Amino acid sequence: MMTDETKPPGWRFDNTYARLPSAFYSRVQPTPVAAPRVVLFNRPLAQSLGLDPAALAVPDAAAFFTGNQLFPGAEPIAQAYAGHQYGHLTRLGDGRAILLGEHLTPAGQRFDIQLKGAGPTPYSRRGDGRAALGPMLREYVISEVMHVFGIPTTRSLAVASTGEPVYRETPLPGAVLTRIAASHIRVGTFEYFAALGDTDSLRVLADHTLRRHFPDRVESENPILGMLEEAIERQASLIAHWMRVGFVHGVMNTDNMALSGETIDYGPCAFLDAYDPAAVFSSIDQHGRYAFGQQPGIAAWNLARLAEALLPVLHPEPNTAIARANELLESFSARFHLHWLATLRAKLGLFTAEPEDAVLAEDLLAWMHQARADYTHTFRNLRPAAAPSPTAPADATFTAWHNRWTARLARQPQSLTEAAQLMNAHNPAVIPRNHAVEAALAAATTANDLAPFQRLLTALATPYEEVGQPDELVNPPPPGTPACRTFCGT
Ligand code: AMP
Ligand code: MG
Repeated sequence: MMTDETKPPGWRFDNTYARLPSAFYSRVQPTPVAAPRVVLFNRPLAQSLGLDPAALAVPDAAAFFTGNQLFPGAEPIAQAYAGHQYGHLTRLGDGRAILLGEHLTPAGQRFDIQLKGAGPTPYSRRGDGRAALGPMLREYVISEVMHVFGIPTTRSLAVASTGEPVYRETPLPGAVLTRIAASHIRVGTFEYFAALGDTDSLRVLADHTLRRHFPDRVESENPILGMLEEAIERQASLIAHWMRVGFVHGVMNTDNMALSGETIDYGPCAFLDAYDPAAVFSSIDQHGRYAFGQQPGIAAWNLARLAEALLPVLHPEPNTAIARANELLESFSARFHLHWLATLRAKLGLFTAEPEDAVLAEDLLAWMHQARADYTHTFRNLRPAAAPSPTAPADATFTAWHNRWTARLARQPQSLTEAAQLMNAHNPAVIPRNHAVEAALAAATTANDLAPFQRLLTALATPYEEVGQPDELVNPPPPGTPACRTFCGT
C-alpha cells in the first residue's frame, strides 16, 4: 500500500474509451499475483508523462505495476477487436492486456496506460492471460530503442515480475509490462464492428479516433476519408522508418496495426544482421508473409482492410465510397517510395535530389544482398572519402559502386563533413542485435542476472554513438551463429 505520507505519483486519468458503448470492451479486474517485484522502471518516461518517479520507484509500486492494486482513477477494461491474422479474419480482443485508462500529461497529451500480462479476460480464449519475463524485457528494450531512433512507438514504463510461473514449453517466470500508447485503437478494432455489421458503433469509433488522433480532420468535408488518408500516410512513413534501421516487425496482422501510426506489439520482431529482403525471424511465419521487404506491401494490404471496414461510413453512396477509398489506397505506394527514397538519401549523405539516386541506393542494397553484408555495419562504415570502406570486402562491384557514390557526393554543394554528419544521424552504430538480446535475456531469466540487460539498455540509449559501445552490438554475429528464431504469442 502507498502510505499517506507518500507523494502521489501524479496520475491524471480521463478514461474516454471506458465511456464508449459497452460493445467496445469488457470491464475486468487484473488477477492478483503472488509476489510482485519491479524489475525495470523507466524514470525518464515517467518524468515525461508528468509522473513523480520518486513516488513510483518505491517497492510498494510493484503492486500497482502488476495490477494487484489500481492507480487512483484507473477503470480497467479489456478492449474488443478483431484482426486478420496471416490473412484470416478472427475475433480477438485483449486476451492478456488490461487497459487501466487514459492519463493526461501536464502538456495535455493523452496516453493509454495498459498492463500486459495482467490475467485472463473474456477475450482470452484458451490463453492464460499471462506473459513471461523474457518477452516483456524484450518489448521494453526494443520499444525504448525505437523511441530513441525517433520512430513512433508504444513505450514501456515498467516490467514487474509476478513471482508466479507461466507455462509455455517449460515453466518460465511471469511478468507484467506497463505499456504506454497514444491509443490501442487498431485496424482490427474497425474490423470488429464491420464484421458485426454494426454501422452505428463504426461511426462512434471513427468519431472517437478522429478526435483522438486526427483533430485537424474533424472539421474537414469528409472527416472519415481524411482519417483514412492520414492513416495511410502515417503507415507509409512508419514502414520507411522501420526499414531505415533494419526492423522486421514479424507479425503485421491487422490487430497489430495502430491507427495512431505507432509501432505496436513487439512479439517476434527482430533486426536485420545481413541484408536480405526475404529475412524472417518468426518461427510461425513459414511463408515469409512478414519478411523485411514485404512490409510495405503488407501495410498496404492492411490499410485496404481498414478501408473496407470503413466503407459503410465513408460515403452515403456505396460506389462513391469505394472509388474514394481506392483512390487513397492507390496513393500508398507513391507515399511510401517518397519516404523511403528520402530515408535512403539521408543514409547515403545526400542532401540534394538527382533522378538516379534511387538506382544508386538500390545497387548498394543489391550488392549487400549478394555479398551477405551486414545492413547496419555497411551503412555505418560507408566513408564519404576517396578510399572505399576499410571494413567492406575488397570487391570490384562494391568499389565501382563506391566510385559512383563518391562522384555523386561531389555534385552536391554540401561538404563531405556535412554528408558524414547526416549519415551518422541516420545510420545507427548499434542496434539490438538478436544474439546479444537473446544472451542478455537468458542471463536475466535463467540466472537472475540483469547486468547484461542493463548494459544493453545503456548502450542502446545512445545508438548513434560509436565510442565505447559493446562489441556484441556493434559487430555482426560471428560466423556460425545460429539464425535467430523468435516466437509469437509469448
Ligand atoms: P499477438 O500475437 O500478441 O498480437 O496476440 C494475438 C491475440 O492473442 C490477442 O488477442 C492477444 O490478446 C491474444 N493472446 C496472446 N497471448 C495470450 C495469452 N497468453 N493469453 C490470452 N490471450 C493471449
Ligand atoms: Mg497483438
